Amino acid sequence: MLFTCYGCRGSYPVIDTNFMRYGGNTTCYFIEEKDTKIIIDGGSGITLLGKFLFENYFPNPIDINIFISHGHWDHIMGFPLFEPFYYDNNTFRMYAPGNDESDVAKMMVKLLEVSTAPVPFENLEAKISTKNLKSNAKCDCKDLTVETYQLNHPSIDLGYRVTSKITGKSITVLTDIAPIEDNYLSWGWKELALGREKQFEQEYYEGLVKFVTKTDLLIMDTHFTDEDIKGKRHWGHSTPTMAMTLAKDGMCDNLMLTHHNPEYCDDDMDEIFKESKKRAKNLGINLFIAVERESHEV
Ligand SMILES: [Zn+2]
Ligand SMILES: [Zn+2]
Repeated sequence: MLFTCYGCRGSYPVIDTNFMRYGGNTTCYFIEEKDTKIIIDGGSGITLLGKFLFENYFPNPIDINIFISHGHWDHIMGFPLFEPFYYDNNTFRMYAPGNDESDVAKMMVKLLEVSTAPVPFENLEAKISTKNLKSNAKCDCKDLTVETYQLNHPSIDLGYRVTSKITGKSITVLTDIAPIEDNYLSWGWKELALGREKQFEQEYYEGLVKFVTKTDLLIMDTHFTDEDIKGKRHWGHSTPTMAMTLAKDGMCDNLMLTHHNPEYCDDDMDEIFKESKKRAKNLGINLFIAVERESHEV
């Protein structure tokens, strides 16, 4: 499987000479196995991916599955300018967490309506189907299988575990995610946990550990440092320390930090990576950091 990062910035895109090395575009990941292609999230980075696809495939048709973690702007803002949506020989299947309050088709219609986008969703040339997903679902995508697990974040947010049917290897993407202890962020979870809070937290964490167990590359939102998360746990993000704890509990050898804070410049990111790498080594974890346009073979 080839994993390429087209955007790893959290919250909003940054255009600044001090942010060039890690990249300023928001979340977009691309996974390829033989002829099967998967996109996770359509942040501003998806516009770069659109150019790559256009340059390498046009006028041949492309067929891609798109998985959206959740509907926050930094994960969807690139869709209106994703070039492959504008050609009729392309096919897309879009998946996102859904229920009555959150629906991928409704979200796309809202995002690409005539007053905010050049072409409304229903008039895009490409063939686009939409499907709502729940936690613990499994999708078959030719050479890849994609499984879901709902994450603790203010929204309905899904983590995705992508497994190759050819090699059995997997990549798991958890974005965005916060620790759950006394910190119920997902819609409806506070009510769901009422009266059995400790058990609810334990079940959630055990499920999360099971979901990531022995994945070959764990990619996780580590938006904050240990210092900066103080007073902001309800924002819905994690730290490198939290990611290393989960990697350890889930027996994951390879961990990648992502969803970089838009207030951390390249020098800050260098420092965070250097310091985290030292700690990861002591724990027996190979630590990577997401960098825009960088690929990893898994
Ligand atoms: Zn985000
Ligand atoms: Zn979010």
